[in-house]
Amino acid sequence: MRFAVLTSGGDAPGMNAAIRGVVRAALSGGHTVYGVYDGYKGLVEGKVKQFNRNDVSEILNQGGTILGTARLPEFKDPNVRMLALRQIEDLEIDGLVCIGGDGTYRGALDLVRMGVPCIGIPGTIDNDIASSDLTIGFSTALNTAVDAIDKLRDTSSSHQRCSIIEVMGHNYGDLALYAGICTGAEYIITNETGLNKSDLLNSLREEKLNGRRHAIIVISEGLTDVHKLAKEIEDFSGFESRATILGYIQRGGNPTPEDRLLASRMGAYAISLFEQGVSNVAIGTIDGKMAYNDFEVALKMKKNSDNLFKLVERIH
Ligand code: ADP
Repeated sequence: MRFAVLTSGGDAPGMNAAIRGVVRAALSGGHTVYGVYDGYKGLVEGKVKQFNRNDVSEILNQGGTILGTARLPEFKDPNVRMLALRQIEDLEIDGLVCIGGDGTYRGALDLVRMGVPCIGIPGTIDNDIASSDLTIGFSTALNTAVDAIDKLRDTSSSHQRCSIIEVMGHNYGDLALYAGICTGAEYIITNETGLNKSDLLNSLREEKLNGRRHAIIVISEGLTDVHKLAKEIEDFSGFESRATILGYIQRGGNPTPEDRLLASRMGAYAISLFEQGVSNVAIGTIDGKMAYNDFEVALKMKKNSDNLFKLVERIH
């Protein structure tokens, strides 16, 4: 069979391990495999190279994606997708592996509807793909966030400060929730909890009056201007406050062993599904086991982290 693999949307540590998994599994199955550069943009432009074993040597431990990624909003246009279809037909591709987030899945679903067999692999630091318990990159981003928050806690307790740390999440709060739990943050504010500013300010004022020396607030990106929030906290509660936006460091770095393992498993699984005649599905792990759902189903599924929110209530 003839396969191709691309990475699309935001990059995530572990994407390289997934590419390697796809390529090595395809080659060991006796198939031909192509790498597509720069996501759907490269597919449309024909930026494609046949891969051998060595093309994916020494990338398992590297962050980012050797294939590159790009955003191509025009991919929603059927005429643009026709250009991609032509490339796929020219190369006689039997299966395309699309590694990325839900936007990438939507692009893949559009290709499926044009007759291209696709399989999606969840690659995003946000863990916002409901058809998988974990996405590739989340473990690494969480490690980065936890490491940074631990360091900020050291200085915030020495200086008796309130530290606000904004983490990424792209409208989904798992990174803040998990990082908040792992660092024992006093307040975890996510897209799911929302920000109740007056409650927060009153609570911090009370804590300060009760003699609390420092506090950590972990908050998801996009909820508020954290520097303004720090000023408001300082004015209202008397807590000296500082805000830190962790930003893009969360997207980089060598993938954790968990991400390397997850990505390798998913890459190989995509090829075995194609070999079994299964396609048009998004791969995920459910309770640690490999699973898959049709793209339509996967895109409609809703993530639920209620158990972890309950844990926060019990132990914070
Ligand atoms: P992610 O995959 O990380 O969610 P994006 O939302 O940026 O990232 O999507 C990646 C790419 O997928 C887009 O640049 C575009 O080429 C393609 N894409 C996104 N949404 C659609 C859609 N509704 N239809 C077709 N292609 C899409």
